[in-house]
Amino acid sequence: MSSFQNSLRYARQQDRLDPLRSFRSQFHLPKSNGKSCIYLCGNSLGLQPRLTQDFVQQELSDWAKLGVEGHFHAHRPWLHYHKFSKKSLARLVGARPTEVVSMNQLTVNLHLLLASFYQPTPGRYKILTEAHAFSSDQYAVESQLKWHGINPGLGWVELKPRPGEHTLRTADILDAIQDHGDSLAVVLLGAVQYYSGQFFDIKAITHAAHQVGAFAGFDLAHAIGNVPLALHDHDVDFAVWCSYKYLNSGPGGMAGAFVHDRHGSNTNLPRLAGWWGHNEKERFQMKKGFVPMPGADGWQVSNFPVLSGAAHLASLRIFDQAGIKALRKKSTKLTGYLEFLLRSLPQADSFFSIITPAEEEQRGCQLSILMKQNGKKVFDRLTRKGVIADWREPDVIRVAPVPLYNSFEDVFRFVELFKNALKK
Ligand SMILES: *Cc1c(COP(=O)(O)O)cnc(C)c1O
Repeated sequence: MSSFQNSLRYARQQDRLDPLRSFRSQFHLPKSNGKSCIYLCGNSLGLQPRLTQDFVQQELSDWAKLGVEGHFHAHRPWLHYHKFSKKSLARLVGARPTEVVSMNQLTVNLHLLLASFYQPTPGRYKILTEAHAFSSDQYAVESQLKWHGINPGLGWVELKPRPGEHTLRTADILDAIQDHGDSLAVVLLGAVQYYSGQFFDIKAITHAAHQVGAFAGFDLAHAIGNVPLALHDHDVDFAVWCSYKYLNSGPGGMAGAFVHDRHGSNTNLPRLAGWWGHNEKERFQMKKGFVPMPGADGWQVSNFPVLSGAAHLASLRIFDQAGIKALRKKSTKLTGYLEFLLRSLPQADSFFSIITPAEEEQRGCQLSILMKQNGKKVFDRLTRKGVIADWREPDVIRVAPVPLYNSFEDVFRFVELFKNALKK
């Protein structure tokens, strides 16, 4: 880390040396006041790939030309659309293609998978999450508990960081799993925590959950496309994600789900069903008696939203070209540079602290800057200067330099503007 230099010249030199530098031009960069802004908000809404328009246009033309026949004769036949993203998604989450499926939205998928994996009994009924999980995940857990007639005050275990700390220690998570033991039904964590940016130890947590007989599920909203994952090898039971953050698939874009083949091949698992999850060979026979398809596909409910799916495919093609390994390599360096510059600021200790773990393997690209004074004012000044980052109540600025389209120069310029915004 000490090899970094605090100069624009150095930042530009790193950009010239960056093997992924050409990807930036594959995206539309938003403007503010007529100038390209510094976009550090890919953790909230990823930028639009230039390719997206062609992919969506293809489906619009096929629909215009073919009408319903597009299900069979479109350039990418709509009937099979959920299959076209499988290989790319499998690479991103470290799974077999049979274990992943694009469908619905994240929270919907979470409910669908909890319907299968949260089957409480009088002895085993608890769900363990991190405290202050993303609101939608909290609502999903609370309502699942109530749906099964369980008092959330008894059935919901929320893990808080130790006093004075902002992230959870892995050892504390593992201890809590042990402590609740066989009363635990599901361990459900955000793989990368949306607020702190902490990347949890998926392998160790999953192993601990299995040792007490619980299932382990992860919300990958802030992890997919950000950090390499190995869900299959780590033996994770289920996972869900959205694709409008690091995956750049557009506002409200396709979400997805992972179900380990160990469960996917068990067609007796209870589930909430619909026709798209039914044995595809007889889907159109409209027969009575649900027979799920093997694999994650068997959790589909409704037919596939082709227009969002087209945008999703365009974006996944870019990930296939860049490769998550190479992206991660650049990402750790880019975020390391951001951290180096922030820590070099003379105002560092009095004005802010970085609550994201300093260890590379415990974070993705995002740094969460906890403001000790004037946080919202500083954030608003940055916005006026053309920085797009994100403010989380009560006092955190989240900054996410993403390796596909952010540069070392972006990071350098951001920290200059941040320094000036602190001064005023
Ligand atoms: C963004 C995000 C969501 C969004 O849920 P949707 O159902 O896609 O609206 C859920 N959980 C986490 C952790 C998120 O970061």
